[in-house]
Order: sequence, then structure tokens, then C-alpha cells
Amino acid sequence: MEKNSTENESKKTIELPNVVSVRLLSQLTGKEPSEIIQILFNNGVPVTINESIDFDTAVLICDEIGINAKKQTLMQEEVSKKGKNQKHRPPVVTVMGHVDHGKTLLLDAIRNTNLISKESGGITQHIGAYQINTKYEGKNRSVTFLDTPGHEAFSALRAHGASITDIVVLVVAANEGVKTQTLEAISHARAAQVPIIIAINKIDLPDSDPEKVKRQLSEKGLLAEDWGGDIPTIEVSAKTGKNIDELLDIILLVADMNILTADYDEKANGTVIESHMGVGVGPIGTVLVEEGILKVGQFIVVGKTYGKIRFIKDWKGNKIKEATPSMPVKISGIKSMPQFGDHFRVVDSEKEAKSTLEKSGSEGVVRSIAKNQIKNKFNLIIKADVMGSLESLKNATEDISNLEVDINILSSGIGNINESDVNLAKSSKALIYSFRVGCDQTVQNLANQYKIPVKKFDTIYELIDDLKLTIEGKILPEFSEEETGELYIIKVFFQSDDSLVIGGKVEQGKIFKKIKAYLMNKDEKEYIGFVSSVKIGPTEVEKVSKGDECGVKITRIEGSKNLKIRDKDNIKFFEIHKKITKLT
Ligand code: GDP
Repeated sequence: MEKNSTENESKKTIELPNVVSVRLLSQLTGKEPSEIIQILFNNGVPVTINESIDFDTAVLICDEIGINAKKQTLMQEEVSKKGKNQKHRPPVVTVMGHVDHGKTLLLDAIRNTNLISKESGGITQHIGAYQINTKYEGKNRSVTFLDTPGHEAFSALRAHGASITDIVVLVVAANEGVKTQTLEAISHARAAQVPIIIAINKIDLPDSDPEKVKRQLSEKGLLAEDWGGDIPTIEVSAKTGKNIDELLDIILLVADMNILTADYDEKANGTVIESHMGVGVGPIGTVLVEEGILKVGQFIVVGKTYGKIRFIKDWKGNKIKEATPSMPVKISGIKSMPQFGDHFRVVDSEKEAKSTLEKSGSEGVVRSIAKNQIKNKFNLIIKADVMGSLESLKNATEDISNLEVDINILSSGIGNINESDVNLAKSSKALIYSFRVGCDQTVQNLANQYKIPVKKFDTIYELIDDLKLTIEGKILPEFSEEETGELYIIKVFFQSDDSLVIGGKVEQGKIFKKIKAYLMNKDEKEYIGFVSSVKIGPTEVEKVSKGDECGVKITRIEGSKNLKIRDKDNIKFFEIHKKITKLT
């Protein structure tokens, strides 16, 4: 572990978006597209230069070429220095916490003490989010609140690949203290690496005990500032309005510490946070603008649909001409209903919108090696019936973790598996294991929808055995290449960007299908593609051996199209071997 961190420090680090094309990854890493394509191919993912891979896969590629990759996030200081068009934007805040601890009332209190709706014509509408104005250090500032309280919405958005929250306000009732959903909320916020502010609520109640809450939170690793930690903590009452303005100040302080910026000159893009059918106006989407300025009349692609924006309304229902970053707005003009969590972005024309959708074949373009896990790193959610079994399970999983895999228990708790666990599993690519507890039908349906297996066991050893087997199945095999043969080209019959048909004589070894072909240029070898057919005369054969004269068809990888293959060239062939890891 320590060795890794030292290595990491000396490595170059790049930032990557959620989805990156091979071309962009090549530009960012400074490596040839063919090299990246080859690594992907070795891992069983044949892609072209224009295809995209997901973040986890890109991390794996970067790892192989000795580069650190981290997620591109507007939370990082570097972002503000990166583009000259980066400007400050308001923070986007989600309020989370246990049921009945006062999330809704707190959101109301914030809205009411900072009435934008006092402005003329202001009618408060529920659109999934709202923005308040407040004075902070003598300046007018805005804060965007996602109006669907609870970690369900937060984790459901993350499950859709959207991470639009900059700050989580964790509400804990001062009389009840830390409860199961408080812990779940902490897991969610941590998994999303979002800064947390604690709001200890209901301090107007006689049985309120804020110090007890701080102690309980400290046991969970959240140490309040006045306890010597670094978690901003404030005691509030959503009922009386006490310290609500101070909470806003803390939110802006945390926002400023994280330097939240957006590129205002980008083509506008963002995320759908709600949608519904508007009477007489068709599909309406509530979107949060993340970058750029969204304007009436622009064409946008939203998830699997597109449209031309007919109107934009702010959260109060006022028609506006444009929306800037962090603004939640309603838009109309979209052809069909967008989905919660869909990404949108502005394009230049209807033609571009249509071709973008066609090219993407909806979402299917994103290729991924490790569908479920980053190489040998496994997130786990464990639920058990009682504390004793939970502790034994944690210890047993740690033992596996010491071997060749890194198991991270993202969340653990007592009681049935719930929707929040499933959403966390989806967004954090975690496995769910339960011991002597189950889940209700709604939760099972959600798990089925996300294709997340919910595994239930009655004995610890069965659970651990299954976990080992599952992990073994998911560990990315290690690949090595072994030379199988060499061909001397007598004649190149055909070559295009996609394929190559050559006739030649096998000088060494064997040539068969699905092996990799390299053009030999002195001692350098240049990757052409892989063998898709082998013939002797007109007959397709299994393999050819030393001395045979044969025809070989090679499917080229895109990065090799500038490579001209000529008569009398030599081609070497390599087979890929997989090494499967077994856990003991
Ligand atoms: P949520 O489930 O977290 O959204 O909780 P609500 O906002 O619906 O609040 C649950 C209950 O607690 C309601 O009856 C609220 O009126 C009450 N409540 C919320 N905040 C406070 C508070 O600061 N003081 C008191 N006394 N009651 C509160």
C-alpha cells in the first residue's frame, strides 16, 4: 500500500470526465491511440478511436501506462486555474438525514427566511430545486438547494451517473440523535466524496442534546469543529428559524473553500432532475445547468431525445431568456419525456442533435472493461441481523482483503436491505451481501431493474465462500502475449482502413484466428489488428503452420490505418493468455 502511494506521487496525474473517447484519452495521456486501443483489446474490449469508455475503464488504462487518473470535478482547486472562462457559480446543496429529523421543515425555513419570492410576481413552485439569495460578507450570493430531501434522490441521481451535489447538509435531530438513515446518508456522502455540514436540528425541544449527537457522530468518524475536528457543525431549529442564516453562511464558506466554478462559455450542459407532461406544452424537464449558458431557441440533446428550447422558466415560474450554471430551470420544447438523471447538452442544429443520438445509439456507446469493479478493488455493502454477526462478517471480509484484492466496506448496518443500499450499490459499483436479513418486494424490484444481485445467506462461511467466488469472477485477469508465428508477405491483395488481406508463407510457428498481428519494422513491432480468417487456397482452415502458403485476413484497429503494409514485409503473430486469480 505504502509503496503504491509513493509511486503514485511521482506519477503524472490527469483529470477525466465520466465518459471519455479513446481520442481524448490519447490526447490527455500523450499516448498513441493505437497503444490505448491495444490495451483495451488485450482486456477484451475492441474499440475504435471514436468510441468512448467509462471512467473506471479509463482509470485502468491510465494505470497500465503509469498515469494517475482522477475524476474531473469542479470541486477541485485546479479547475479554477484551468480554463480562462471558469467563473464562480453557486453551490448545489442536498439536505439528507433520518426521516422526521426535519429536512423538509429546514428547507422551508431556508426558503422562507430568504424570500426571493418577496420579489414581485414570485410564486413558489415545487420544481425539484430552488435558489435562494443571501448576503455573505457584504455580497449578494445564491445557493441552489435540491428540493427532494433525503439520500434516496441523491443516491438515485448518482446511480444514474450524475453527481451534481457540491455539499451535503446532514440533518440530525438533537433529541433523537444518530439513526440508521443518518448513517446511510453519511455512507452516501462519503462515497460521493462530497463535503458534509452537520445541522443539529430541533434544538428548541427541551430534550435536545446536541453534545450527545456530536459524540455519536464522532464515533462514526465525523468530528465536529468544536470537538477539534474539521466537520462544520451548527445547531439549528427549523421551527423557530434559529441559526438558519448562520447555516447559509457555513454553506457559502464551504463552497468558497472548494472554489466552485463553471465554464460559462461552454455549450450549456447539465442534468435532468425532474420531468413531467405539461398541459398543452408537451414534455417539461427541470434541469440543473452545470456549465455554459442555456438559452431559449437552442437545440439540445437530452438522454435519448432532443428538442429546441421553447421556453425557460426559473424556479418561481418566471419566464427567462437564459439560465446560468447551478440554476435549476424548467424547459419545454423537448420531443419526448426526458428521464430523471439524464444528461443534456446544447448542440448547434437539429441535424447535429439527430446525428448525435444516432451515433450514440442512445447510451450504448460507452464501453467498459470492468463493468462492476475497478481492477481488484471491491466495494461492499453488508447488512446483518445483529451487531455480533456484522462484526464477524467485517473481520472475515478483511481477511480476504489482505490477499490480492482490496475490499472496501462502503456501508454496513443492521436490518433489511433497503432502496438506499441498492442505489448506493448502483452508484458506487458495490456488491450487496446480507446475513439473516432480507428485503421487501419494492427493493427487490429496484435491484432487479439495476441488475444488482442481492445475496442472502444464513451462515457466515457460505457468505464468505460466495464472496470469494464472486470476486474471483470479477478480478480482471492478467494478460500476457506469446509469439505464435511469423509470415512473410508475398502479396498484399487488399488493404483498407478496416481490413487487410495478404498472401504469404509461414516462416515460423503457427497462425490461427483471433491472434494479434504486428508489422515488423526492424526490431520495432507495430500493431495492425487481429486475425479474422486464415485460408489455404479458397478453403478456410483452422490454422496454418511453418512452410504453408496461405491467405490471412486481418481486421485492423483504427489506430493502424496509416500503417502501409507492403509485399515482402514480415508480420509476427501473438496469442493473448489470461491468468486467472484464485482466492484462498
Ligand atoms: P423530514 O422527514 O426529515 O423531512 O422531517 P420534517 O421536516 O417533515 O419534520 C418532521 C417533524 O418534525 C415535523 O412535525 C416538523 O414540524 C418537526 N420539526 C422539524 N424541525 C423541527 C424543529 O426544529 N423543532 C421542532 N420542535 N420540530 C421540528
